[in-house]
Amino acid sequence: MRLDTLIRGGEIVDPVSGTLALANIGIANGFVSYVGPQEREAENIVDATGLYVSPGFIDTHMHDEELDDAYTIQRSLLLQGVTTAIAGNCGSGPLMDDYIPKRRAPMLKLAYQTGHTYLRKTVGIDDIYRPATDSETKRMQALLRTELDRGSFGLSFGLEYAPNTSPDEIAALASLLTGRPRVSISVHIRYDGPRCLEGIREVVDIAKKHKVRLQVSHIGSMTAFGYCADAVRLVEEAKAEGVDMCYDCYPYDAFCTHIGSAVFDPGFDKRWNKGLPDLEVASGKYKGQRMTPASYDDLRANDPDALIIAHVMNDAEIRECLATPDCAIASDGVLHDGQGHPRAAGTFPRALRILRDAGLSWPEAVRHATSLPASMTWLDSGRLSEGAPADVVIFDPETLRDRATFADQLAPPEGVAYVIVDGKVAVDHGTCSPEPAGRLLFRKAD
Ligand SMILES: [Zn+2]
Repeated sequence: MRLDTLIRGGEIVDPVSGTLALANIGIANGFVSYVGPQEREAENIVDATGLYVSPGFIDTHMHDEELDDAYTIQRSLLLQGVTTAIAGNCGSGPLMDDYIPKRRAPMLKLAYQTGHTYLRKTVGIDDIYRPATDSETKRMQALLRTELDRGSFGLSFGLEYAPNTSPDEIAALASLLTGRPRVSISVHIRYDGPRCLEGIREVVDIAKKHKVRLQVSHIGSMTAFGYCADAVRLVEEAKAEGVDMCYDCYPYDAFCTHIGSAVFDPGFDKRWNKGLPDLEVASGKYKGQRMTPASYDDLRANDPDALIIAHVMNDAEIRECLATPDCAIASDGVLHDGQGHPRAAGTFPRALRILRDAGLSWPEAVRHATSLPASMTWLDSGRLSEGAPADVVIFDPETLRDRATFADQLAPPEGVAYVIVDGKVAVDHGTCSPEPAGRLLFRKAD
């Protein structure tokens, strides 16, 4: 069979066997069709001499809910080497009829979860502080059932954003996933800071009760206030008892969310033992400024969607968390009007660098971005073996690093030579292909 593309001369990073080996990779019809020493004929040659050839990175937790003509968040992830991403996290995943008709093909492979908070809004709940009534819950169930039938990747909760969500409301929705193959629930837990372990116990119970896979979202930003190791231990203990759980983390000691959310209700300073000067405005008219009582009041009242970066977590805890064997790297990338937190543009190179500094080999580090998140989400990517989707990132291990900073949030990383999605070259040395190479993913039929 003639190949569409031959990736020649690179070292293949295999996260499953933990090895690096010189080999050529042949691609035909979007799949890896050859891995080995031979020079096969191909339509296109990608020269990877001196570079590492890795499975494309998989971001199981990002946000692509806000329509943005420039597709900034997809572009930012793609430029890092992310070839598959799961959006709709933290309760905000839209209904398919609300996003599919409005969007062109994505720049990478993109799946959505159905968001609990979005379901609440759809059935008319505009008060985030009240539980749903029985009839509202029934209507949310009907919507969720339809979305799951149509291929949603699962259900996401942002319990900290809808803080009085009742256990009954959660159970009514979570129970709809029981017995369905390849779906999961992701949860932004109910509490950050001192009560986070209570929040973890709550979700362990949800996973146990409903026999459904549960992903604890961005565990670092919820617990790295002195509790991260204990939180990871709780998840690991549950797993050892047979509960189906996983977690992700992004490599920054600052989180980012909307100023109008319940996270910033009075009392946050005591929870984190920090104050307004630790909060940086990331979008809108105060962008780049540290927060003051006046800007806090103004934004809460008049621009609740403005994004705030909270420099409040402990860096050492985040680093330790990333290096725990079951921790998937995930960006939690979210932008508002193209502005936000550098994690949207820097997460993967930065986390890989942290894992290398922690003593992991390249294949071990890459596992946290590829085969591990693939197995968490039942994706058949995550390894460059024959028959796998041809999702590839080719990078220079010497120079790979993030360049995005809090001042320059979208600066693309250094060291990424090529990104290939479904066999198509989507990034060539920092330039994205004019035609989007991705597509929407839907959960395979039951
Ligand atoms: Zn979240």
